[in-house]
Amino acid sequence: MKVIRTIKEMQLFSQGMKLQNKKIGCVPTMGFLHRGHESLITRAKDLSDCVVVSIFVNPTQFGPNEDFDRYPRAFENDCKLIESAGADAVFAPDVLEMYPVGFLTEVKIGKVTEKFEGERRPGHFEGVALVVAKLFNAIKPDIAVFGQKDYQQTLVIKKMIRDLNFGIDIVIAPTMRESDGLAMSSRNTYLSPAIREKATILFQALEEAIKAIESGTKERKIINAIMHKTLRSELEIKIDYAVSALSNNLEEPDVFLAGDHIVLLLACFLGKTRLIDNAVVTVPLTKQM
Ligand code: AMP
Repeated sequence: MKVIRTIKEMQLFSQGMKLQNKKIGCVPTMGFLHRGHESLITRAKDLSDCVVVSIFVNPTQFGPNEDFDRYPRAFENDCKLIESAGADAVFAPDVLEMYPVGFLTEVKIGKVTEKFEGERRPGHFEGVALVVAKLFNAIKPDIAVFGQKDYQQTLVIKKMIRDLNFGIDIVIAPTMRESDGLAMSSRNTYLSPAIREKATILFQALEEAIKAIESGTKERKIINAIMHKTLRSELEIKIDYAVSALSNNLEEPDVFLAGDHIVLLLACFLGKTRLIDNAVVTVPLTKQM
């Protein structure tokens, strides 16, 4: 497996693949990989002939008081996982390669970035869009696989792809979970054993809301209150947001309609660690008894 450090070398590698008529799949990551990332690589492998995994802890998507400096890094282990998952190359540029002195350009996407995660983390989605645009211009993939785990991010990227004519197929893979339901995340490593035990409450809150929707609840405020009530049962957990919205545009009607696809979105602080999770559920066509 090839480890590529520069944008030029990455572009030459991809050019070579394209000359051999190989379809390129890419999986952008920030490293410290787990089974969730591995499932994305497997999916990319199924859908393409050559898989490039990028590892880049992107400073522009972290706020000034966030965890950029202490974000976990494990390059050697990551390379082992990527190789055994069957990828062909790792693209791991350093910060100056991606953002040389004098870098100026910004990528700003409207509405879909303005609420929930975007509101709580100003500049986050602009940083994500910028780095993904740069990674796509370096890797030149035909398809790219992202996780549903970062739900709002998937909407932002799909919007950018359409609006800027990248011509890349975006594939969204399901969230991989631990056996108690906690969504896998590189940030789970921050959790103390005591807090880790309580973290399953995020998944339980989603499940409670899904149950209510599937048995006929359609009022947005009631759905949100169910998630809040479940989360509040763990005193150590502080809710940042727990909301429901239409899954395609994040709009928040007072009452959802039969057939609507709802996304349930959570962000919570567990001690100092902030975790997010989500689920998509369809409002049943007829009320279940
Ligand atoms: P990250 O390294 O956290 O930036 O994530 C890189 C990619 O992996 C993103 O597309 C994430 O949505 C995805 N991802 C992270 N956690 C999971 C998970 N538990 N299951 C599936 N995909 C995930």
